[in-house]
Amino acid sequence: MDAEDAGAGIGRRSVVGVLPPARARKLAKVPFVELADGRVQGVVSSGSDIARVYVSSIAAESHDLSCGTNNNRPCGGLYGSSPCKHLRSLLDEAVLQYGVERVAAYLRVGIDADVTSGAALMQRMDTHHGSAPSGVVFSRFLRYLSYLEVPGTTAPLPEMHWFPATGAAR
Ligand SMILES: [Zn+2]
Repeated sequence: MDAEDAGAGIGRRSVVGVLPPARARKLAKVPFVELADGRVQGVVSSGSDIARVYVSSIAAESHDLSCGTNNNRPCGGLYGSSPCKHLRSLLDEAVLQYGVERVAAYLRVGIDADVTSGAALMQRMDTHHGSAPSGVVFSRFLRYLSYLEVPGTTAPLPEMHWFPATGAAR
């Protein structure tokens, strides 16, 4: 590898903190999920109120759980005996989009062939209640939505230059 290649590698590494999803996102119960900032985190629709969403996250390694509304109200189900349905939905969607091996590796959970679902993966974690900066996640979700609303065009979109065109998909 010559000096130029090494430089390109470093440049690329600085932009792949967010792993690209293995399959296309579908907008549903969990409209946004990402493996970023050392957490599996995302936005989960409220089951009962269409206007309310929850920002939920599971931290890698510590397995700290966090869940609250986009207005920073704590989730009522978070302190129950099992993780709230938002966290379970978040993990299910992460497994669907990224694959269970990748999500487990990101969270630093050792798994065997029996673990194929988000629920099974959750059982392998010793979870704790923690806190996470939900505002950051939510604003990234809103920015993601704004790109969905950008009209189709073949002209370059300056903001998207931040993302590598193809390279991160491995
Ligand atoms: Zn919740």
